[in-house]
Amino acid sequence: MRTDYDIIVVGAGPAGSMTAKHAARKGARVLMIEKRQEIGAPLRCAEGVNRRGLEKAGVPVDRRWVSTDISGAKLVSPGGHVFRIDESQAGNEVGMVLERHLFDKAMAADAARAGAEIWLKTAAVDVIKEGERVVGVKARREGEPLRLTAGCVVAADGFESQVARWAGIDTSLKAGDITTCFQYRMTNLRTEPDYCEFIIGSVAPGGYIWIFPKGDDTANVGIGVLASKLEKPGEVKRYLDDWIRKDERLSCGQPLEALAGGVSVSPPVERSVMDGLILVGDSARIIDPITGGGIANGLLAGMHAGNVLGDCAQAKDFSEEAMMPYDKLWRDAMEDRLWRNWMAKEKFLTLSDSTLDAVIETLSTANVDKMSVHNILIAIKERHPELVREFEELI
Ligand SMILES: Cc1cc2nc3c(=O)[nH]c(=O)nc-3n(C[C@H](O)[C@H](O)[C@H](O)COP(=O)(O)OP(=O)(O)OC[C@H]3O[C@@H](n4cnc5c(N)ncnc54)[C@H](O)[C@@H]3O)c2cc1C
Repeated sequence: MRTDYDIIVVGAGPAGSMTAKHAARKGARVLMIEKRQEIGAPLRCAEGVNRRGLEKAGVPVDRRWVSTDISGAKLVSPGGHVFRIDESQAGNEVGMVLERHLFDKAMAADAARAGAEIWLKTAAVDVIKEGERVVGVKARREGEPLRLTAGCVVAADGFESQVARWAGIDTSLKAGDITTCFQYRMTNLRTEPDYCEFIIGSVAPGGYIWIFPKGDDTANVGIGVLASKLEKPGEVKRYLDDWIRKDERLSCGQPLEALAGGVSVSPPVERSVMDGLILVGDSARIIDPITGGGIANGLLAGMHAGNVLGDCAQAKDFSEEAMMPYDKLWRDAMEDRLWRNWMAKEKFLTLSDSTLDAVIETLSTANVDKMSVHNILIAIKERHPELVREFEELI
């Protein structure tokens, strides 16, 4: 067993696996550790992803991890106004619903084929530092304590993100930047089998209810509510149960599975690189603050991180300066969009149900050709400029 590596990736989610794959492809000695006993399980995701996101990260679609191809999307207002957009207009903005447990394993398998080593049931419990520089992690492998040293540690440990914090980078979130989620996999539904649906307004304060199809009469039916809007734990499930009871397409359904989880809806981290440490995926807070989608962003950041780390391994230099090209690459690709969507989220929090009704009604008559946050904001800017005044330069 080797214990010295160029790179130790903590967390085998999409961001960690992409980092491991691209770094290993360039010849770096990579170890990826995962605390769970199975990659991709248990599920904590609604599994929606758009084709463009996969394309940008250079991940070709493999039918084995696609559950359902999506033909379009619907945005539903509190009063029942529907903004509907189908695939012919949405192009590759509309995507698919994954089998996430297979997808995550496929991404890890690609990393292994590129040469990365993978250890399951191995949890990082702290970082090892020499002065200000991270030089490895303390871990427990099947309960046994270990010290693993490396030129660079990759914090790919998702929403909970402890690795960066241990190293001294503040990734803490305020309650207004956390969405608390609850989801059922439900069957025997009467919802559309190929349309993703988003229901907004006071039914899901600060977030939305989603229906993402998983085959004919089955779907991921979930809710995200801003943590600052919740008075007690468990309330988020009540919001969803209330909606399911009222929606007759759902009330006939039965649950197959339930899950809970958190999503950051904050601006991205101020610092994603320090000597011997790099942050990717959810740990860098690069989830889209409006949609809560983080798979595509995590893949893209992982690709950039892996490529830069591969170069660093060749140069034997994992200093902050040598790894800064990664910081620039992901910021150029998504930082403006993340900030814009965070500001949009902050604004939409303040809107009443009747204003949301008016906005969705407007959208349904506007010439929006693609279901993307950006295009929706452009349409809102034209008809309701007062709603986006604070961040119109980012639209
Ligand atoms: C309810 C819910 C619904 C969502 N729906 C969607 C959606 O439809 N579309 C979308 O794009 N995004 C969605 N997301 C967000 C998406 O799941 C994440 O953005 C995505 O998984 C981020 O990938 P990642 O690799 O950064 O982190 P993760 O996928 O979270 O992977 C992190 C990995 O690190 C491991 N780990 C953590 N700590 C340690 C440690 N100390 N040692 C070793 N291993 C560790 C974890 O076990 C995990 O496997 C959803 C999230 C939730 C909670």
